[in-house]
Amino acid sequence: MSTAPLASDPLASELPLRDLPICVAGEWRRGRGHAYDSLYPADQSVNATLHAASADDADEAIERADEALRRSGWAQARPHERAAVLHRVAAGLRERREALAQLQRRDNGKPITETRALVDSAAGTFQFFAAACETMDEELTPQRGAALTMSVHEPMGVIAAITPWNSPIASEAQKLAPALAAGNAVVLKPAEITPLLALELARVCEQAGVPRGLVSVLPGKGSVVGDRLVRHPLVQKVSFTGGTNAGRQIAHHAADKMMPVSLELGGKSPTMVLDDADLDHAVAGVLYGIFSSSGESCIAGSRLFVQRRRYAEFMDRLVAGAQALRIGDPASERTQMGPLVSAAHRETVEGFVARGLADGGRLLCGGHRPEGDGRERGFYYTPTIIEGLRNEQALCREEVFGPVLVALPFDDEDDLVAQANDSLYALAAGIWTRDYRRAWALGRAVQAGTVWINTYKQFSIATPFGGWRDSGLGREKGRLGLRQYMHQKSLYWGLNDHPLPWAA
Ligand code: NAD
Repeated sequence: MSTAPLASDPLASELPLRDLPICVAGEWRRGRGHAYDSLYPADQSVNATLHAASADDADEAIERADEALRRSGWAQARPHERAAVLHRVAAGLRERREALAQLQRRDNGKPITETRALVDSAAGTFQFFAAACETMDEELTPQRGAALTMSVHEPMGVIAAITPWNSPIASEAQKLAPALAAGNAVVLKPAEITPLLALELARVCEQAGVPRGLVSVLPGKGSVVGDRLVRHPLVQKVSFTGGTNAGRQIAHHAADKMMPVSLELGGKSPTMVLDDADLDHAVAGVLYGIFSSSGESCIAGSRLFVQRRRYAEFMDRLVAGAQALRIGDPASERTQMGPLVSAAHRETVEGFVARGLADGGRLLCGGHRPEGDGRERGFYYTPTIIEGLRNEQALCREEVFGPVLVALPFDDEDDLVAQANDSLYALAAGIWTRDYRRAWALGRAVQAGTVWINTYKQFSIATPFGGWRDSGLGREKGRLGLRQYMHQKSLYWGLNDHPLPWAA
């Protein structure tokens, strides 16, 4: 196992970063938690050595954020003044696009083409919420008595943002941008294994003029730092993206504090190919939906339903497409799939596949670690397709969060809707058909926060996103995403000429 980046890596001369500081309310210093190394999943070389944040760091970041809010005037600043700062964050991200994308590639092993898109997405998110902040109206409500009535919104205070490892910077921007735009401070806890991009985002915010103390970044354990953030009395809201188990625990603590929480959780999203679909589009879309990001995506289309009449033909083409995917060096412009994020995660994925096969599933492709071209050094796993299971079996119900697709035939739309909706999750769905009437009926019947019709895994920051049931609570993105970080308040302006009659 190597410890230094390969000489061929574009960041070879800059890494590893030694004793990487964390950001505690604007102070860059060593965390007070355990020491660890952040690794490159493609070859296990060291990206950075650092100390994680501790629970004491979390307390300090929260208390200083609360002070900074009072001292800096950020909450009281006019919307256009906050917007100007957020526009500078967007510009800062764009200026550093390539450096950030390369660092993100090292952080979780995603291909460079994908990490560039994530940086672009983060910049677009800051730009969007700057615009939303500057243009959001408050409401004069219809007058029903001797008072003028208004609905306005106030910042909440200190927000805790907790993110997973699969799309750093994009998911972090999705919380930081609206929370700051709304006039709050943010203590951000990225996943322990992917600390680099959140720390860079804090630097960009600092350089853009976000007042000192309003942004902290505390890489560390969920059970230590995350737990402290959720329970701290000064934290007014938690915005969480991650697994359903952790989300449920957070929701319990939030209930005790009577604190709002938004939860973006897991999925087991159905992709449905009807017998009249354009198969060129459907094959490409299904492959992209499950195997891009190596399947490490909450909205991965991981349950495939194909109408029986076209099933064999479709599956032949799909398997050929999966076998042709280019798996390897994330620094290469040609790579489609990089490694999984860690050794432990790959073992979890392998465990799911073994269970599916033990339950009677038939392996159509994949199901092993690829070899050659140095891939033995990384946590690679081949795109895997399994058929022959029933929708109620474990591999069709549980989120794998890896490049594993289960395929099932269906007979008619009633059968399809019943199977697609028979899931604890309800995050996303895909429909492939040429018939707009069938698409409309299915699109309305399927239970999911997002439905893609003749496309998949496309995103717009202007369109709300979130799930139902075990997939989460609340919505991110969209203009109203800003309001998720504000308290609504009603104002009544008395217009009476005389004292109120009751006591007069
Ligand atoms: P995870 O739940 O293990 O961790 C997510 C984050 O929560 C990490 O920062 C972790 O340290 C922290 N955490 C864990 N337990 C905690 C606790 N008890 N209190 C506070 N914080 C805690 O998830 P993961 O393995 O990092 O990410 C994969 C999961 O995230 C998948 O289930 C995936 O579907 C989900 N995800 C959802 C979305 C979405 O938008 N719906 C997007 C990306 C990922």
